[in-house]
Amino acid sequence: MITKLLRSGSLSKRIAFLYSGLFILTFGTLIVVATGGIERYAAGMISDEMRSNAKAFEKLLELESKNMSAASEILASDFGFREAVALGDKPTIESALVSLKNRLDVPNAFIMTLAGDTIGLQDALTNSDTDSLWLALDEGADSGLIKINEQYHGVVASPVEAPDLFGWLVVGKPLDQAEMAQLSELAPIELTATVVERSNLSAALQSSIDSQIEISEKGDRILYRTSGLPALSSNHQPVLLLRYSLSEALSAYRPITWILISLSLAGLLVIIGAGWLLAKGITRPIAKLDKAAQLIRAGQRKKVTINSSDEIGRLAESFNQMVDAIVEREDEISHIALHDALTGLPNRKYFKDHLESAMKKCSDTNLVAAFYLDLDNFKSVNDTLGHPVGDALLKTVAARMEEVLDGLLLARLGGDEFAILVDGAPSSDDITLLAERLDRSFGKRFTVAGHEMPSTSSIGIAVAPHDGTTSEDLMKNADLALYKAKNEGKSCYRFFEKGMDEQAQKRRQMELDLKLAIEEGQFELHYQPLYDAHLEKISGFEALIRWNHPDRGLVPPVNFIPLAEETGLIVPIGEWVIQEACRQASQWPEDIRIAINVSPVQFRSTGLRAVLLQALSRYGLAPERLELEITESLLIENVEDTLKVLHGLRAIGVRIALDDFGTGFSSLSYLRSFPFDKIKIDRSFVVDILQDKSCADIVQAIIGLAAALGMETIAEGVEEQEQVDMLLQRGCNNIQGYLISRPINGVSATDFLEQASQSNRNRKTA
Ligand code: C2E
Ligand code: CA
Ligand code: CA
Repeated sequence: MITKLLRSGSLSKRIAFLYSGLFILTFGTLIVVATGGIERYAAGMISDEMRSNAKAFEKLLELESKNMSAASEILASDFGFREAVALGDKPTIESALVSLKNRLDVPNAFIMTLAGDTIGLQDALTNSDTDSLWLALDEGADSGLIKINEQYHGVVASPVEAPDLFGWLVVGKPLDQAEMAQLSELAPIELTATVVERSNLSAALQSSIDSQIEISEKGDRILYRTSGLPALSSNHQPVLLLRYSLSEALSAYRPITWILISLSLAGLLVIIGAGWLLAKGITRPIAKLDKAAQLIRAGQRKKVTINSSDEIGRLAESFNQMVDAIVEREDEISHIALHDALTGLPNRKYFKDHLESAMKKCSDTNLVAAFYLDLDNFKSVNDTLGHPVGDALLKTVAARMEEVLDGLLLARLGGDEFAILVDGAPSSDDITLLAERLDRSFGKRFTVAGHEMPSTSSIGIAVAPHDGTTSEDLMKNADLALYKAKNEGKSCYRFFEKGMDEQAQKRRQMELDLKLAIEEGQFELHYQPLYDAHLEKISGFEALIRWNHPDRGLVPPVNFIPLAEETGLIVPIGEWVIQEACRQASQWPEDIRIAINVSPVQFRSTGLRAVLLQALSRYGLAPERLELEITESLLIENVEDTLKVLHGLRAIGVRIALDDFGTGFSSLSYLRSFPFDKIKIDRSFVVDILQDKSCADIVQAIIGLAAALGMETIAEGVEEQEQVDMLLQRGCNNIQGYLISRPINGVSATDFLEQASQSNRNRKTA
């Protein structure tokens, strides 16, 4: 328990406890040693006193008997008395004895005759005692103790000669309680003296005659001293017994112990108090530091004030410096956590937090709007001018927006995406006005690192409470509106509309389905023959992808290719197309080519070249049998990069065809930028070629230019024989279209090839 107390709890308690413990130990030992010493010293002193008292006692007894014998000798030598004794004059003898007794104040004085008779003895003496006394006197003894009337008497005897020895004058004084008490009073210490028969003593006392012994009686320490006394009768062995209570004597010294103990207790209290104060003094600042450290751990910024210049004061100073450093770093971290490093604008989290609190106060007359902005051309700036210019553009755009926003919260969500929070607009007109102002601000060109460049932005807007009641909903809906703005030609703003949500969900589901389709191999390729009308033979097939959806059946590519391009899933899908088309083509005769559509996204992805090489070598397909169909859109942006890739592909040996020529941005000048192997004239020209003269003229021009540049041409979507005739007439002898065949699966395509070569052979033999 003590160790537990020492280990746990507060430091001050421990210090105080330790102090008092040490004090108690020291003083406890001191008291024990001191009281032991005092007791031993006192006992020694008492024992010495006892010894000298006993001597004094013996001397007193001796003195008394000397007194008595002096008086009795005077009487014994008195002539008249001796004569009275010689004559047997009893009255005279008795009267002399009475006056002796009175003078000496003793009760007994008598004559013991030589014959053993007693004259004048008042009290009884037993016969054996009488004989014994006589014997002792006869042997010359003159003092000692005898028992008269069962009571010890100190006795002296003087011979009475008349003139021959007649007997002895014996005088005895009782050594009774009164006498002994009287004697004891003369002693400086309070002892009790008694004369007892030796045989009546306890064994311990009997064995220590003429010495001192300590005996414990009922818990008291008693000191005894015994000394043998001379007897005038061999019947008795009287002993002087002095009894002294050591406990009582020592109790005189008890107060000293008590004083010591009380002094110690008082000292202990002082020490506990002082220890406590001292400990408090030391630990109070430590406790303060402890508390402050705990507060800091709990996230509060707490400094301590300790006014001392000792170690603890210095510790507190360091602690406060540490708090400052923590605060500074925390501020820095939370700034970093809530801001974008490039533009210094608040980031997505910051935006979301503020949107959340704004949403709490929003109402029909206090609208909250989230604007999502996405730069339209940012990727190409990054790709063509490099990231440093891209970064500088972002900063410039941010700065211009801030001018327009006039204090509204502008955040950078990441990449080229920004968000604006309108916290409290009275009506939606205000929001529209802001959208217009913002849109207009992108009308002016930006000057970035010496470059003058246009940069537009698509803007999506969602307004609470109408378009959502949670920040998540509002952000999601602003994003949907942004998506719409992008889809509807960019460089514009769109408000969120109900229904966008549903479209988005469908799109999302489709995306998930597409991923699954890749994993589970739900795609298949169909093949449409490319027919050489001049040679009247099949020159190849165009591979066209189909999605065999488990619920929706065969899904045509227009319904999923755009999404696959947006999500990047076109890259793995396109890879599969290349592998599958090469595999199929490798089973066909060597003069049959295979045309594969390559999406712009796939074209720009790294690794296209490696995939092609790998597929060609895997199926042992000659590169010139492979034709890649790319679209014009690739030639509008990043022309240089596109050309680089095209030359790289050409170096492998594969053929390159320009698909859908004549649509969109078409310009005949593109044909000069790269030596394409083939131009595919778009179906839209073929459809009208018979009715529309200008169409026919354009087709004529394309064919002419291509021929001049040494490129083949092929017409797509040919459905009628008249179209073929017209095309042949204009110089285009390659035909693709339903007229020859719809796209068919691999097995049918192989059959188709066999039938075609069969009928060819038939024709030749015919
Ligand atoms: P595209 O490259 O222009 O392919 C020709 C499209 O015209 C095919 O449509 C074909 O079925 C259709 N067609 C051919 N002859 C006729 C005709 O006489 N009359 C009519 N009305 N249509 C005809 P499909 O298969 O639906 O493909 C549509 C587009 O999907 C393709 O246009 C191509 O851009 C894309 N696509 C198809 N397969 C792939 C692929 O594997 N990869 C990529 N990236 N795109 C593909
Ligand atoms: Ca094509
Ligand atoms: Ca086409």
